[in-house]
Amino acid sequence: MPAAAAIPPHPPLADLADRLARARAAAGELGIDALVVTPGPDLRYLTGYDAVPLERLTALVIPVDGEARIVVPGLERAAAAASPIGGLDLEVLTWEETDDPYALVASLVAREGVVGVDNHMWAEKVLRLREAMPGARQVLAGAVLRELRVRKSPAEVAALRRAGSAIDQVHEQVPGWLRAGRTEREVGADIADAILQVGHVSVDFVIVGSGPNGASPHHALSERVIEPGDPVVVDIGGTMPDGYCSDCTRTYSVGEPPADFLAYYAVLARAQDAACAHVRPGVSAESVDAAARDVIAEAGYGAQFIHRTGHGIGLQTHEDPYLVSGNTETLEPGMAFSVEPGIYLPGRHGARIEDIVVCGSEAGERLNHTTRDLVVC
Ligand code: ZN
Ligand code: ZN
Repeated sequence: MPAAAAIPPHPPLADLADRLARARAAAGELGIDALVVTPGPDLRYLTGYDAVPLERLTALVIPVDGEARIVVPGLERAAAAASPIGGLDLEVLTWEETDDPYALVASLVAREGVVGVDNHMWAEKVLRLREAMPGARQVLAGAVLRELRVRKSPAEVAALRRAGSAIDQVHEQVPGWLRAGRTEREVGADIADAILQVGHVSVDFVIVGSGPNGASPHHALSERVIEPGDPVVVDIGGTMPDGYCSDCTRTYSVGEPPADFLAYYAVLARAQDAACAHVRPGVSAESVDAAARDVIAEAGYGAQFIHRTGHGIGLQTHEDPYLVSGNTETLEPGMAFSVEPGIYLPGRHGARIEDIVVCGSEAGERLNHTTRDLVVC
């Protein structure tokens, strides 16, 4: 797919500047005096800078009253300047190997204030910042940043749509690789190659759960040899050049599956359909979980559906919102998440069907389109 070259690696500078401004405003509303964001999805969201998280401190500092700046190691100045940071109105402050970058960050924020640190900051950096700012109070910046990231813009939805269509292209090829006599690892290697071929820049996970391994939702790959009649759960995903992630599960059968499997697979497909159809603005996240769970429970498999129905997705494979009992948060247009009920019979086999769904202005839109009918390979 030539799409990789066509996908811009970051949003337009105007969008990034807008995100920085909204982050500052949201921090102020929550009584936070400054945000400190180290490399990871939050930094990429705010600045387009896909910095590698390393031991040397890189930190975006956004004081509510004052200019945003980014502190980077001297040897990474060129990399930072080559990123969208070079085009944003962000002063780049560098530190050399014998400097104390934590003191530098501390000098940019109010000593007595409330400092929001990004949720993914390494603990060692959190603690060293605390030492450098003994009068400040640290809180998680997640409350600020999740509010920005949880509702995807039309451009972000388009990015997730591209990721969905890329992973669909891999699933379309899976039946050709699933054969009795091959190991899960051999099939997984074909899948991993294809995930890159269709335009992802990284393979994030490859689950090939054959036979009894299909009953373990986070089974990865093993040397197990696929046998005739095995149901096989294939859950795969990667990251696209713009940072957005794919995640899609289909369950296949190598030859004719057992009759009891066919019975619960039909239940599962109905449950997944019901949950996708339930998605619309104004309903709670937990009600989507219930829409799937009720169908499965009524058919007598409630105890075999051992995980939540879904997770948000964007610059991370797992992010807010989570579709789980207890999450009463209301769905809004732009929220994107997986709908992935499963039924698992320990020691025997299992099944899961997963699509990424975006909440639109009236209904949900599935971003994965390969058949959900059982494909017998
Ligand atoms: Zn998945
Ligand atoms: Zn998932």
